[in-house]
Amino acid sequence: MPPLNEQDVANQVRKWFKDAWDPGLALVTWRRRLVDSGWAVPSWSSDWFGRDLPAWANRVAHNTIRSLGGVAVPLGVGFGLAAPTIYDHGSDELMSNYLRSTLTGELLWCQLFSEPGAGSDLAGLKTTAVRDGDHWIVNGQKVWNTSAHHADMAILVARTDWEAVKHAGLSYFLMGMHQSGVEVRPIKQMNYHSSFNEVFLSDATVPDANMVGRLGDGWKVARGTLAHERHLSGRSIPRFDDGQNGRVIDEARAESAEHAKTYVWYPQRQGRADLVMARAQQKAQTQNPIVRQQIAKVMSTHRNAELTAERARAARELGKPPGSEGSIGKLALSEIARRCSDTHTSISGAYGMLTQGPGADDDVIAEVLVSTPAQSIAGGTDEIQHNILGENILGLPREPSVDRAVPFKDVGR
Ligand SMILES: Cc1cc2nc3c(=O)[nH]c(=O)nc-3n(C[C@H](O)[C@H](O)[C@H](O)COP(=O)(O)OP(=O)(O)OC[C@H]3O[C@@H](n4cnc5c(N)ncnc54)[C@H](O)[C@@H]3O)c2cc1C
Repeated sequence: MPPLNEQDVANQVRKWFKDAWDPGLALVTWRRRLVDSGWAVPSWSSDWFGRDLPAWANRVAHNTIRSLGGVAVPLGVGFGLAAPTIYDHGSDELMSNYLRSTLTGELLWCQLFSEPGAGSDLAGLKTTAVRDGDHWIVNGQKVWNTSAHHADMAILVARTDWEAVKHAGLSYFLMGMHQSGVEVRPIKQMNYHSSFNEVFLSDATVPDANMVGRLGDGWKVARGTLAHERHLSGRSIPRFDDGQNGRVIDEARAESAEHAKTYVWYPQRQGRADLVMARAQQKAQTQNPIVRQQIAKVMSTHRNAELTAERARAARELGKPPGSEGSIGKLALSEIARRCSDTHTSISGAYGMLTQGPGADDDVIAEVLVSTPAQSIAGGTDEIQHNILGENILGLPREPSVDRAVPFKDVGR
């Protein structure tokens, strides 16, 4: 049979949807139907909720379902990071225990990677897991953990061997968040939102069967997760028209509203390039030569970044290994966020800092100004992206390091 093209896949999804869609279903029942049909992740193996299709089929299936007024897959760490990591590296037992309920959105996940002393230098983390029979006992502190306050499960990297060298002593676990050894403390951000947390682990337990990959494989598996994170497209929160009705839509609307509570400031952290022109017109700044140049730079960088993202997506969908596009794209987003912040400041002046009172702009601009710094930190800082590009793409010598060749317990700290 000749390979399917995008149109064939869209037609197949349409045909399936016509029979399967029932707006009276509960959201979870609908999503189970979707997952079991293979159209939630058609690029996966048909043994595991897929249809053995190329990676682009996921995008085509999700877009087709949305265009027909249906509900597609959930957003967040579960679908975006946990599920593909379990699929790539997990045992059959883990896949059968966790994939379906993660793809349906029944299980909410968070990522417990960063620590107060280990962000860019993630492999230097100190949270420790010690084996106790068929369980591991975990102690330590994690930080900046988005969505940990409502997560059911965590993807966790912990040190299981202090005698091994830094990167070899780590293992990767799936840990339940609803247990007495896990304390989640929300962090109040300077934009007044509270989307991430500190997480304190005091004798938290994880079954041995919940190790992803083998003992000591933690760094390899975590790199896989980070590659998915770098390629997480800015999937927007689904919106449903007023005319769309039914139980599944109502529950999907509520799910989107809950998701938005955590992620509502994410567009602002990207700088809101979409508001720049309208604001300049509103504030009669379109004839200001400085502002005009700033706007031109924002728009051209933004368009360039869109094309780079397209290139990255096309390469990924053709099954090519991740190249430089992920890091270049991420750097471009940081640059756009900074330029937007400067341009909004030029347009609004000091009033842009105000959220209320006479002459204040609405609080979107103030939120942009305090949120854009996060863009160049989350998912790996700009400096780290520069290092990745320098070493992996340009072939520059590796950064000097003093802690890779000795047992981690002997590394000075
Ligand atoms: C919005 C947001 C959401 C996040 N969500 C999560 C989450 O869900 N789970 C999670 O585990 N973490 C999360 N993080 C944490 C994020 O991964 C870390 O903040 C990031 O990796 C940077 O680590 P750090 O904050 O410890 O900074 P550091 O690593 O301490 O860096 C401080 C500064 O030093 C620079 N620097 C460090 N090393 C080098 C080097 N080798 N060469 C040059 N410069 C260097 C950095 O670029 C930076 O400017 C989130 C962060 C943000 C902002």
